[in-house]
Amino acid sequence: MKIVEFDEKGQQVIRDSGSIMSNDSTSKLAPRPVFGKPDTAPRRKRKSSSGIELHMFQTGTLRTKMKYIKMNQGEEDFEIPVPWFLIKHPMGNVVIDGGNAVEAAIDKRAHWGAVVDAYDPVMDVKENCVEQCKSVGVSPHDVRFVVQSHLHLDHTGAIGRFPNAQHIVQRSEYEYAFNPQWFAKGAYIRADFDRPGLDWKFLGGEFTDNYDLFGDGTIRMIFTPGHSTGHQSFLITLPNTGPVLLTIDAAYTQDHWDNKALPGLVVSSSDAADSVAKLHKIADDTGAMVVTGHDPKNWESFRKAPYDFYD
Ligand SMILES: [Zn+2]
Repeated sequence: MKIVEFDEKGQQVIRDSGSIMSNDSTSKLAPRPVFGKPDTAPRRKRKSSSGIELHMFQTGTLRTKMKYIKMNQGEEDFEIPVPWFLIKHPMGNVVIDGGNAVEAAIDKRAHWGAVVDAYDPVMDVKENCVEQCKSVGVSPHDVRFVVQSHLHLDHTGAIGRFPNAQHIVQRSEYEYAFNPQWFAKGAYIRADFDRPGLDWKFLGGEFTDNYDLFGDGTIRMIFTPGHSTGHQSFLITLPNTGPVLLTIDAAYTQDHWDNKALPGLVVSSSDAADSVAKLHKIADDTGAMVVTGHDPKNWESFRKAPYDFYD
């Protein structure tokens, strides 16, 4: 099995998986105190866990303007985190989204094009999701599923980077990504998802809603279109923490969650509003901790990898 990695200079190197130990934890990520305040959550390495863990990472930030996040809400600068998630589970490790592709840290304009003028990625090469997985002891060949909320450029960093993974996405999102409408074109980087030899599994919108990945209720996929055609959110249920609702970009920020803003990029405002209402019902029914997609303030409050996790 060949493993694709990136060295310090961002050069791609292909290694044999035999040279990568599954307990490799040599990657030391610099903490990212990007928003002026340190994380408020405690940073400690836990001695034991329930065996199911949710690790919250980010591939740096995007420097953008308020109007690109909150529809019609001004020109002021706005910097948002780019979160992604790793779930360790006895039946296999799961990466959700993977943040930006590593190429955004190497030559952002070459990889993303003119969209960097609206969404400017601030990312170190070492912040790619493959390296970050290693920082918590997960080697690339030990990831069983890469699950996509949608295929916008700040969510496609894991596709094709984990050689044994099946990739799961909504079929409508995958099809739209190859032929997006003019206003959404800049958000889809075809090189990220149109890669040879990928094992894809496609979900069918409302017909496969609440798809339960392992059949044990740990990871459920909730169809939440609007921001994109085939967007999905995730309800993660952990043994000790309980339910955690990852809205992803169905609600970028607290304002979106509170019905005070529509997404700056949207394919259907009507569907986007319905999806937030759908997620509110789930949060009310389950009492879930809500994790919005890109809120700089909310993001500070969570336990962050590689120092800590939820179990
Ligand atoms: Zn996003």
